[in-house]
Amino acid sequence: MDRRNFLKMTMLSSLGLGLLCKGAPALARGIPARAFPDGGPGRGFVPPTGVIRTPLVDLFKVGPGPSSSHTVAPLRIASNFRQAVAELPAPALARAARIEARLYGSLSATGRGHRTDRAILAGLLGQRPETCDPKIMDSLADPKATFSTTIGGRSFSVSQATLVWDAVEHSFPFSNTLVMRLLDAGGKPLLEREYYSPGGGFFLWKGQPDPGRGEPPHRFGSMAQFRKVAGDTGKPLHQIMLENETAILGVDEKQVYAHLDLVLKTMDDGVDQGLKEEGLLPGPFEFYRKAKRIHDQAKGMSEGDGFMQRISSYAMAVSEGNAAGHLAVTAPTLGSAGTMPALVYVMKRHLKLSQEDMRRGLLAAGLVGLLCKTNASVAGAEVGCQGEIGVASSMAAAMLAYATGASLEATELAATIALEHHLGMSCDPVGGFVLIPCIERNAFGALKAYNAALMAKSEIASQHWEDLDRVIAAMLETGKALPPQFREMGTGGLGVSMVDC
Ligand code: SF4
Repeated sequence: MDRRNFLKMTMLSSLGLGLLCKGAPALARGIPARAFPDGGPGRGFVPPTGVIRTPLVDLFKVGPGPSSSHTVAPLRIASNFRQAVAELPAPALARAARIEARLYGSLSATGRGHRTDRAILAGLLGQRPETCDPKIMDSLADPKATFSTTIGGRSFSVSQATLVWDAVEHSFPFSNTLVMRLLDAGGKPLLEREYYSPGGGFFLWKGQPDPGRGEPPHRFGSMAQFRKVAGDTGKPLHQIMLENETAILGVDEKQVYAHLDLVLKTMDDGVDQGLKEEGLLPGPFEFYRKAKRIHDQAKGMSEGDGFMQRISSYAMAVSEGNAAGHLAVTAPTLGSAGTMPALVYVMKRHLKLSQEDMRRGLLAAGLVGLLCKTNASVAGAEVGCQGEIGVASSMAAAMLAYATGASLEATELAATIALEHHLGMSCDPVGGFVLIPCIERNAFGALKAYNAALMAKSEIASQHWEDLDRVIAAMLETGKALPPQFREMGTGGLGVSMVDC
């Protein structure tokens, strides 16, 4: 049996058996407080309630790197503001003189390293995240250049002077805040929106009206509730996710599959492209790509070492492309954009899974991502890197497990194990650039995900204490306790120790 078939057989048999047994005890029992001499921590865990109404199309977004919260969301925000300006009544538009974008918090602290300036200008100029050319983005960095655009029949000029790098410390409800203004000649606002970028390329604004989407037929806000829905309906994970997605968006299954296929293709293309590229990445210090080199070196290694090296190279290929501003998928963010593609590449190229199986895996990853985003956060600025690489690894583990035939319980277990072993991980990008530690960290996220899926196969459900809801709650608590300098400010940890005085 060759390596590919061996891997496929291993994954299929091990992930699919044992934990697939019908009647296996459910996960999610808590450890009784009486098990501890002092009666436990004095508070118990209550699974979150509520209904997740976020569609997967909002979770998995295609956009230019390097950061979902600092690049994709600002681009989408600027695009949204452009639309709002275009819809103003003609008398207000006639008085408009200029547009201003004020950046706060981590956007202000590390926005230059994350190309936030270019993203905002690109959005104001009418660029879309899915199709934005990195070369256009680069041209917007010129401090002397001015760009003209027509909005609602009015001509506006935008440039680096449009941006105001405002307070890093502030009292807005989200760290990443962007206030967009349309001003008259005297500097009086004609339109103002206070936008927030809570991670993963999502954005919202103060006073935002209900987006008017459909109600999900399957109502769950936690993994515990999801398990109950699955038990009550007898439907598999992917069917529940599919039915919710079609109902929320008001589309048919074909349209959902088209988006899932775009996500899988963008991830696969990202690995392919990254494995061909060499040389320096953009940034203020010399940082060389290494995905291609370590991929080439894998050929001379033993089977086991070579496989691990290849997984690392796949993750780094996408992460390096993301750092260079190439298109990538928020999974759940762009900082963590390499983790899931590494295992997508493994599923497609090594395990030879069908497109249908890969779509199912992606739906399982989506469930994990939505639970983490809803009940904690996927923003490094909110909860540190555990919310980015940690969640990406958890999603990737669930994807690999479910795509290779694991039960709902084994899939949850894979996600739980992967997330659990990222708890406490800080976000401390050197210089605010998604280079150190982000690129290698994606490789570790992918390797941990693979390992988590393997470990989940041999767990005995009735002997396992941790469940996904509890670990997500721990991630939130841990993230909130992290000092601000370890939450994407670039002013703590490696962000400081790697730099000479
Ligand atoms: S350290 Fe982690 S959370 Fe922070 S920017 Fe890098 S990948 Fe994102």
